[in-house]
Amino acid sequence: MTSKHLGNTRRITSFHPPQRTLLGPGPTEIHPRVLTTMSQPAIGYLDPVFVGMMDELKDLLRYVYQTDNPLTFPISGPGSVGMEYCFVNMVAPGDKVVVCRNGVFGGRMLENVERCGGIPILIDDDWGRPVDPQKVEDALKREKDVKVVAFVHAETSTGAQSDAKLLTQIAHKYGALVIVDAVTSLAGTPVRVDDWGIDAIYSASQKCLSCTPGLSPVSFSERVVERVKARKDKIHSWFMDMNLLLGYWGASTRTYHHTAPTNSLFALHEALLLIREEGLEQAWARHQRHHVALKAGLEAMGLRFFVEQQYQLPQMNAVLCPAGVDEEAVRKTLLSEFGIEIGAGLGPLKGKIWRFGLMGYSCRPDNVMLCLSALGSVLMDMGHSIKVGEAEAAAHQAYATLHAADAQHARKKVANLK
Ligand SMILES: *Cc1c(COP(=O)(O)O)cnc(C)c1O
Repeated sequence: MTSKHLGNTRRITSFHPPQRTLLGPGPTEIHPRVLTTMSQPAIGYLDPVFVGMMDELKDLLRYVYQTDNPLTFPISGPGSVGMEYCFVNMVAPGDKVVVCRNGVFGGRMLENVERCGGIPILIDDDWGRPVDPQKVEDALKREKDVKVVAFVHAETSTGAQSDAKLLTQIAHKYGALVIVDAVTSLAGTPVRVDDWGIDAIYSASQKCLSCTPGLSPVSFSERVVERVKARKDKIHSWFMDMNLLLGYWGASTRTYHHTAPTNSLFALHEALLLIREEGLEQAWARHQRHHVALKAGLEAMGLRFFVEQQYQLPQMNAVLCPAGVDEEAVRKTLLSEFGIEIGAGLGPLKGKIWRFGLMGYSCRPDNVMLCLSALGSVLMDMGHSIKVGEAEAAAHQAYATLHAADAQHARKKVANLK
């Protein structure tokens, strides 16, 4: 056999990625248990054993989403497919959709509405600010027959969190359903689908769920299912038509729809089980704890956060790159010298911010300390006036303060029991 199609490429050998510390906007590091699970033997996606695993997987997803929605399952595809799935099914041509844009991902929602033939009513907020509920209410009042309100709960491009509960309440007051992007929020900060009355929500496997990329967990209320079933027109995507996929993920007897990515689904099952074992509230608290420590360190180094304190996401820390510092060179050196990946700014924030993700399995004290230490080293090496050691000291102090508060809390609990 000739190898002419290989052209001039060098001899190809097995691929072995280097060890990295992943502190960007996703993907995250993956727990060893998840990696082991992924490398289990292949089985068929209609195998009864696989079907049993899928039922558990759906239960685990209901737990992380805090919902009883029967239609809760992982879509085969990244978060962007979960996003598209919601719009393709819920937005018919001519439907008015309020789209909130305060970062990159709100902009993608707008794209989706336009491609579905919907009429977008765009609400812009400054990047780094949360979605303004008043503007949403004003738009709903003005436009009257809005079908859907779409917003991003945790804007990964800026590190800002919006009030999903309040925005949902406002939408419902005017008879609109909501589509919520929980790609970065799920398992990092509270997401309570049933308590908040969220209609449609999607996430992704590689952010705070800390799994391999390529799966998008979604959940839909009965209201959404009814609306999709009542549509007179044919859904414009065969693959994403909710009516067809119901036969695979929704029904008790599975029929072939597409070949499910079996080993990735094993991995998601394990990743969710890890969250179940830790406890969802504990996972939220862990993200908060390490955020507080990282923030103390970054601020001691003289860096400033991009987002106001009350809207800061613990799992996505955006800080302003100081004047005179080569933003890209710092990131490149962190990667080449320390094997640490952090995120750059997107769109108008390009070159202006760094994004430090503390998501899922990456959200650990060793990563916080390593990151502060490495960043201090890189900045000092480039000649910027950084007080070496102060960042680490501030982070240690933050951890000590948190531990003391925890201990006091525990003592009070015991005292109350007596
Ligand atoms: C990452 C992300 C997405 C897209 O997810 P992919 O898996 O990259 O397709 C959508 N929305 C938000 C808020 C994200 O952070």
